[in-house]
Amino acid sequence: MSTETVKKDILRGGQFLVKETPSEDVFTLEDLNEEQRMMRESTIEFVDRELWANWERFENKDYEFTKQCMQKAGELGFLSIAVPEAYGGMGMGFVSTMLVCDYISGATGSFSTAFGAHTGIGTLPITLYGTEEQKKKYVPKLATGEWFGAYCLTEPGAGSDANSGKTKAVLSKDKKYYSITGQKMWISNAGFCNLFIVFARIEDDKYITGFIVENDPENGISLGEEEKKLGIHSSSTRQVFFNETKVPVENMLSERGNGFKIAMNTLNVGRIKLAAACLEAQRRVTNEAVKYANERIQFETPIANFGAIKAKIAQMAINAYAGESACYRAAKNIEDRIAIRVAEGNTHQEAELKGVEEYAIECSILKVAVSEDVQNTTDEGIQIFGGMGFSADAPMEKAWRDARISRIYEGTNEINRMLAVGMLVKKAMKGHVDLLGPATAVGEELMGIPSFETPDFSELFAEEKDLIARLKKVFLMVAGSAVQKFGPDLESHQQLLLAAADILIEIYMAESTVLRTEKNAKREGEAAQEVQIAMAKLYLYEAVDLVIKKGKEAIVSFAEGDEQRMMLMGLKRFTKYTNQPNVVALRNKIAEKVAEENRYTFDG
Ligand SMILES: Cc1cc2nc3c(=O)[nH]c(=O)nc-3n(C[C@H](O)[C@H](O)[C@H](O)COP(=O)(O)OP(=O)(O)OC[C@H]3O[C@@H](n4cnc5c(N)ncnc54)[C@H](O)[C@@H]3O)c2cc1C
Repeated sequence: MSTETVKKDILRGGQFLVKETPSEDVFTLEDLNEEQRMMRESTIEFVDRELWANWERFENKDYEFTKQCMQKAGELGFLSIAVPEAYGGMGMGFVSTMLVCDYISGATGSFSTAFGAHTGIGTLPITLYGTEEQKKKYVPKLATGEWFGAYCLTEPGAGSDANSGKTKAVLSKDKKYYSITGQKMWISNAGFCNLFIVFARIEDDKYITGFIVENDPENGISLGEEEKKLGIHSSSTRQVFFNETKVPVENMLSERGNGFKIAMNTLNVGRIKLAAACLEAQRRVTNEAVKYANERIQFETPIANFGAIKAKIAQMAINAYAGESACYRAAKNIEDRIAIRVAEGNTHQEAELKGVEEYAIECSILKVAVSEDVQNTTDEGIQIFGGMGFSADAPMEKAWRDARISRIYEGTNEINRMLAVGMLVKKAMKGHVDLLGPATAVGEELMGIPSFETPDFSELFAEEKDLIARLKKVFLMVAGSAVQKFGPDLESHQQLLLAAADILIEIYMAESTVLRTEKNAKREGEAAQEVQIAMAKLYLYEAVDLVIKKGKEAIVSFAEGDEQRMMLMGLKRFTKYTNQPNVVALRNKIAEKVAEENRYTFDG
């Protein structure tokens, strides 16, 4: 990575909540360089030729075909984007990794799950935590697709509570190997992988330990049948049984008891990549939906002309646009943070680990937001297709089923919501993000007399940015008071945490969308960004409504009497529009543009 891209003053993870970001500082899809654009083109070409054209094979549970496509992806270099050059990879930056992950995932959830499981959780634990020998031995094979990886964390009794697994690792008398025994469940790529990352407990250790285990049926490894699933039909998902499987001591990952940390840090990367992997599916579903809406005639007019359909098309486009805005903003933050750490003397391995860990809050936010957007988009896609939407012969039905898994794996959305707020509170306690100062200021503002001046909102997004700053105050007011009230016991007030998480998510998504659009409007002119401006305004409008709903729910759950009245008044003040946007006109503008182009055209 070139040194000129190393910026010292980038926001730290979670700081978006308390610091203003100038729009010039956010990275957008429009900022992709020539190399990245070419990579995107070749990814789209691969998907159209190999995956999209063969959707029936994926639907018909052709697991072998998924493997063949993975091998082709390996031959074309798609599996090696994130792998350092020293181990046979391309060593490209985090943005490029996200880009491939995004565009390769649009055709079928079966392939994107196989791709994500292999390049993410199947390979990353070794690139991030492996010894030099482990990396030299395994990573080149994984980077080319000669070998495939799988990740064995979940067990029948250990899902969200990932550290509670019962799989055991027992050291042999001669101390040369561990003998692993246990049952793992829901393992993606199990049917064709050559290597498992396995988490097991040594003696009565508090934390599990990670191991690299080669797939050898002669070594006590057996598989359950393929799971019968709602979607992602050709993604191989099986149970894996280890029965005194011998694993050389040198195949331990990192140190004894470090497995939970490895598992969680790998999942951070997995989460942001999963968010990216939900973007192209949204674009393609939007394209199919708008094509259908333009062609389907009812009441002697294309259904795309009906306001009811326009509202859906607009929402689909906004979802994809907001997801892109937030994903690539965070991706570049991570890339820059890694560059800063490398410049400071960290190894690439340490830098990547810490760089991603730094933005764990954003990774959880993105995972939740974008996985729910793809679900809503596919759902409305079915609705636009009407009866045909329910048919397995049309593209929407499978897209909807495939989308559903994203809310479950890589940590369920409930867990990720609670993690996002929990991690932020912890960062504040450790002094890494100053929430206390801004929260106190909000408290003082609430006690003071509100300003009755009419602000000047004539500049583009002046009112929207002011509103976003006030939404942040809502979060600080709610979370600050909740922390004061409950202290460490806040953890057990889950519905409050979920409401706070929704506020946090909307702030990040809305801010990213507005900043991206402002940046592009500054360089291209407002006229060129007219539709994007409409999308940003509409996203924020919906976000404000959600913040009001969730804020109220949170406040009344723990505040009473005067305190409650004051906070509800604050909520009203902080979410007030001076100029209400005409949301119907905005929706029509967006939908009409998408209908005119017959596709989604806003991805830079
Ligand atoms: C198709 C598929 C592929 C998968 N691939 C892999 C893989 O490759 N490797 C792997 O290791 N795992 C994999 N998984 C497992 C996946 O990560 C887990 O299913 C997921 O983490 C949830 O665990 P669980 O299924 O045990 O649900 P549970 O943990 O039992 O959760 C059930 C419900 O309870 C909620 N819940 C749980 N704990 C709490 C809590 N503390 N507070 C509030 N709510 C809570 C959850 O949010 C959820 O709604 C896969 C799963 C599927 C379905």
